[in-house]
Amino acid sequence: MDEIKFNLKKLTHRAKGDTGDFITLNEEACNGCGMCELVCAATLWSMKGGKARLAPRYRELCFECAACWEICEREAIDFHYPAGGTGLVIEYG
Ligand code: SF4
Ligand code: SF4
Repeated sequence: MDEIKFNLKKLTHRAKGDTGDFITLNEEACNGCGMCELVCAATLWSMKGGKARLAPRYRELCFECAACWEICEREAIDFHYPAGGTGLVIEYG
């Protein structure tokens, strides 16, 4: 199958304004299974010391797809969309 590439930056922009922290991790609940790292297309999750770690710059890099929240069986990840009017804006499609 042919590989399909697209440039997300050309299809989106980031609205101005403070998104607030829209993803949080409950480290006590995390068992280090690595599923969030596996599923994140933006490669914002990594594992450190047996726990998930979210990239500090996630606010400006996250696709807001909520896949990490959906996949976490321990419900260690909390996701909600950024504060009204901020965050990722899809311009086409
Ligand atoms: S999917 Fe959940 S339990 Fe697994 S590493 Fe990520 S945060 Fe931790
Ligand atoms: S919402 Fe999507 S892009 Fe953002 S950290 Fe979670 S899996 Fe990655």
